[in-house]
Amino acid sequence: MNRWTGSALALVMLATASGTSPVAAQANRAQSISASDRQQGAQAHPQLLEQFGGGYEGRQAAYVTQVGRRIAVQSGLANSSSEFTITLLNSPVNNAFAIPGGYVYVTRQLMALMNDEAELASVLGHEVGHVAARHSSSRNRTSTIGAVLTGLLGVVTGNSQIAQIAGQAAQLYTLRFSRTQEYQADDLGIRYLAGAGYDPRAASTMLASLAAQTTLDARLAGRDARTAPEWGSTHPDPASRVARARQRADATRATAAARNRDAFLSAIDGMLYGDDPRQGIVDGNSFRHPDLRVMFTVPSGYTMTNGTRAVSVTGQGGQAQFSNAAYNGNLPVYVGNVFRDLAGDSGSIPTNSVRSTRVNGLPVAYATGRASTRSGQVDVTVYAYQFGPSTAYHFVMVTPAGRGIGPFQSMVQSVNRMTEQQAAAIQPRRVDVVTVGRGDTPASLAARMAYTDYKLERFLTLNALPANARLTPGQKVKLIVYER
Ligand SMILES: [Zn+2]
Repeated sequence: MNRWTGSALALVMLATASGTSPVAAQANRAQSISASDRQQGAQAHPQLLEQFGGGYEGRQAAYVTQVGRRIAVQSGLANSSSEFTITLLNSPVNNAFAIPGGYVYVTRQLMALMNDEAELASVLGHEVGHVAARHSSSRNRTSTIGAVLTGLLGVVTGNSQIAQIAGQAAQLYTLRFSRTQEYQADDLGIRYLAGAGYDPRAASTMLASLAAQTTLDARLAGRDARTAPEWGSTHPDPASRVARARQRADATRATAAARNRDAFLSAIDGMLYGDDPRQGIVDGNSFRHPDLRVMFTVPSGYTMTNGTRAVSVTGQGGQAQFSNAAYNGNLPVYVGNVFRDLAGDSGSIPTNSVRSTRVNGLPVAYATGRASTRSGQVDVTVYAYQFGPSTAYHFVMVTPAGRGIGPFQSMVQSVNRMTEQQAAAIQPRRVDVVTVGRGDTPASLAARMAYTDYKLERFLTLNALPANARLTPGQKVKLIVYER
């Protein structure tokens, strides 16, 4: 099966329906994982994996699980560390989150930014802190979820697949915790660090790295730092938060000081960095999949999320999903099959007749149908492209009734084959941990970074080094290199 992965969408934490808890957030009070939390977490877990590139397997995952359990058990949410499910996500986005039920997540991209095990523990501890303080069940959050759910499409009834496409809008929303909640999570994370024997100042240094990365990302994108949709910027003002975390860490008077830098660096050596070409790449409004040789562009103002089975597109005017199905060479039949799958057990979706055209030389078949939702009727359009004798891809687009393809006209026209050259130009990058030699400088090491611009800035940010850093022979640093 093709894997479509690598979201460019940064989320702080995803919506899960845990609105049955009391409205008041009870900070600092850990409550054990309830049976209902456990059940909801188990239900959301596979969906989260699908939306964030799946789990990144191997020794890095085992290491994250071990560190995550050690810090999570400090929350008092469970007596046994084995009750926590810690996942390293195969995502090129800097992100971490946790959901009730003992599920904690961090992306490999964020892990690569860290410089030791205590920083990893600090991020996981912060996220567990949100869950322990039950921030996810506060009034603020519940009402926001409600607002998203009753948005354009509402909750679709009687049609699980369309409900799934429509429901992505609800799932993909970024939860913004209040500043108070962020500080509470910081404080809990710092407390957990000290309790687990880690240097509690790791929270502060991690936040500083995040702030530096956010600033660099903004420079790379030519944007103002405050608009960067990153883990760091959705949290309170980075500089004051760094200082505050440092003060709180000092106030713990903890004697624990474990950083475990060597163990951490040896764990991440060789880990994939940035986009995973085998799963397709989201870059702004464009999607490219070098293995499948397919690319397209979504309208501006629309957000793309690259899941393991489909690319989801969401925006004000509708939702779409790009994926594939079994193809026997007959495109109209393919379109009919997609509609039959969409209708599922609920019967059928009446459609107009299947029409044919060509887009960028590709044979195309498409049709539009009408489906009922709780908040009214919607148009459902299937647009299928033949890429080979037994290969086809398609969009499913859901728009308000009467709109048809609606805002997605340019998107359906943008689907094209990638040339061999375009596909070959996309190479995976990896983390390479190297030992500083005599005569090495930040500039000489940065020259080895697999980028054409901002090499030194990227190197300094990745290693949490100041601009005037002096390196010591024997010291270990991270580089980002092309796969050898
Ligand atoms: Zn947070």
